[in-house]
Amino acid sequence: MASPFGHALVGLGLFNFFYPRRVVSRKKTGLLYGLVILGACSPDLDFLPGLFSGSPGRFHHGPFHSLGMAVALSLIVGFLIAFFGKTHSFAKTTSFVFVLIFSHLALDFFSEDFKPPFGFPLFWPFSYTYFLSPWGILPYVERNFSNPAIWSQILKVFLVESLLFLPFFFYSLKRKACRKKNE
Ligand SMILES: [Zn+2]
Repeated sequence: MASPFGHALVGLGLFNFFYPRRVVSRKKTGLLYGLVILGACSPDLDFLPGLFSGSPGRFHHGPFHSLGMAVALSLIVGFLIAFFGKTHSFAKTTSFVFVLIFSHLALDFFSEDFKPPFGFPLFWPFSYTYFLSPWGILPYVERNFSNPAIWSQILKVFLVESLLFLPFFFYSLKRKACRKKNE
């Protein structure tokens, strides 16, 4: 799995690409960015049921990390936003949420994973086969605080993810700023 930092950077970059023209107040931008970060990290909410049962990893990398769940969640969010915010396009919101969750799966797919089950059931509910790239491009996110190497590992994750995703995020911001200037 990638870190929430990496997921957030990619998610916010995608948001800027999907909605380059949206001009809202700073407060609303903050709220929108918060929701996008929540959406980008949403598959990792599968930690919560395990947390309550005393074993955080118990349900992690289960069906929440799958294309089936990505389709279901994007349809639900698309319907809700189209229903409550009547000016929003159902197709665009649904596509954005799908791409957002897909980005999470893509980052996790190319991450190092040292704990079983390795990978996640990408094609759930049609298949329970777990998938993981043989090339772990993103470093493993250590969560075991009793491991003395945890801080150096966290630093490594932060540096690699910054190097890979900050340029994409800043480019999306620049593109958005240029669009606004030309309007
Ligand atoms: Zn994940």
